[in-house]
Amino acid sequence: MSSTDRLSRRQLLQNLAVSAPFLTLAALPARSADQPLLSPDAKEAKAVKYIEDATKAQRPVKDSNCANCGLYQGKNGAPAGPCQIFPGKAVKAAGWCSSWAPQI
Ligand code: SF4
Repeated sequence: MSSTDRLSRRQLLQNLAVSAPFLTLAALPARSADQPLLSPDAKEAKAVKYIEDATKAQRPVKDSNCANCGLYQGKNGAPAGPCQIFPGKAVKAAGWCSSWAPQI
């Protein structure tokens, strides 16, 4: 192995170290605040008893709602945001469904 090969390998590793975070970000799904709201009447919403007002649901965990669900991806204080189980749709922060999971 020549010194040129070691230099090339070093450059490759440096390039990977620089580009890896950007590749990871590019692989993440888009999380736009402009996603259309999930309709509670949609088939996939009904399958998990999604409702836009959590206070009207029979919740096994008191005060659980989308905003404090581990699957919610909306910003703090936003009225709605993406949910991991409904790609391409937003759910109301005040909503709830039977797939609610605690935040870790
Ligand atoms: Fe809301 Fe969580 Fe159900 Fe998504 S999984 S709709 S964030 S309660």
